[in-house]
Amino acid sequence: MPNSPTRTDLLIQQEHDTIVQTYKRAPFVLTGGEGATVFDAEGRAYTDWVAGIAVNALGYGDPGLQQAIQTAATGLIHTSNLYYTAPGIELAAQLVEKSFADKVFFTNSGAEANEGALKFARKVAFEKGLKDKTEVVCFEGAFHGRTLGALSLTPKEKYQKPFHPLMAGVVVANYNDLASAQAAITDKTAAVIVEPVQGEGGIYSATPEFLRGLRHLCDQHGATLIFDEVQCGMGRTGKLWAHEHSGVTPDIMTLAKPLAGGLPIGAILMTDAVASAMHAGEHGSTFAGGALVTGVAGHVLARVSDPAFLAHVNEIGDYLMDRLSEINSPLVKEVRGKGLMVALELTVDVSPVVEAGYQHGLLLVNAGANVIRLVPPLVVNREHVDELVGKLTDILAGMG
Ligand SMILES: *Cc1c(COP(=O)(O)O)cnc(C)c1O
Repeated sequence: MPNSPTRTDLLIQQEHDTIVQTYKRAPFVLTGGEGATVFDAEGRAYTDWVAGIAVNALGYGDPGLQQAIQTAATGLIHTSNLYYTAPGIELAAQLVEKSFADKVFFTNSGAEANEGALKFARKVAFEKGLKDKTEVVCFEGAFHGRTLGALSLTPKEKYQKPFHPLMAGVVVANYNDLASAQAAITDKTAAVIVEPVQGEGGIYSATPEFLRGLRHLCDQHGATLIFDEVQCGMGRTGKLWAHEHSGVTPDIMTLAKPLAGGLPIGAILMTDAVASAMHAGEHGSTFAGGALVTGVAGHVLARVSDPAFLAHVNEIGDYLMDRLSEINSPLVKEVRGKGLMVALELTVDVSPVVEAGYQHGLLLVNAGANVIRLVPPLVVNREHVDELVGKLTDILAGMG
């Protein structure tokens, strides 16, 4: 008699039957978590080096986060932006206090934050009467999201090709190549958008000289400099904002992934010069800045911006890089990154390593074909690192 299907089998079949098949999912169903560990429906445990793609900064079951959600849930969940509510105002004040920015606009996701940033930058030029100043410069390897404007700034054929025509006026330059940027940025440039550390593109850090050069070129041509810190911001690199490693500040910074500890939120932070180009009715979003998510984000930001918390990210990040560098395998090409945003680049396709990770109780994710991207909950400790390195060593040894 054949075995009766497990709950996992049934759910996976139902997912195939009912959900658009745009995601290639791991072959198990997650049901719970504690700290940096998640559990599946068959009771197996996995140490999580993905964190919901750099989202779950405080991990799972965090008591402070649970309390913040409970407190927020007893208040108003949503009011629309027709009315003032305290949590969004308090979160904006905290973001302004802890960054270069003077003003904040809330969104619901990273793509939506970048869409807004684009509109704001074009409006800055429009307000000056510069009707031809509409171009946007982005970089090879960038990822800015899947909506049409953000997709237009994400120069990857697989993502873009079926969806033409894209937004007009996009110019693609080479990352960390100032000569290329200089050729791309002109008086027609409304905005330059760059990730201080590229995430999806494979964990590549912009050099301080590159960001300084972009700042200079934007000032020279009156263009708005946008830093997309959706993945690298909020403590991930060991500083609250990734651009702090360079000392360069943008005109706009976009945030999302970890900002509310797993609840959907995004934010556009900007200078007064940008904000003053926007007037009532010129942009909006029904759910954005709702009391529940902003209340929770206020807790997450307060926790993550604590110097002791950032010191932990730096300490464990350094330990992770050191331990990964000790792996003695001909398959390892490079270890790179900052804080807890680390790449283990192999000489081969990493999908068998990700698959083997599941057997060994590890959640891993790639960034491109040859890179294992390590973006765990920021609360991981040395024992988690030792476990990871031991298991990766075994997995790589097994691949010859
Ligand atoms: C994930 C990501 C986005 C898109 O965010 P979504 O919330 O998925 O829309 C944009 N920029 C960067 C750098 C990202 O990593």
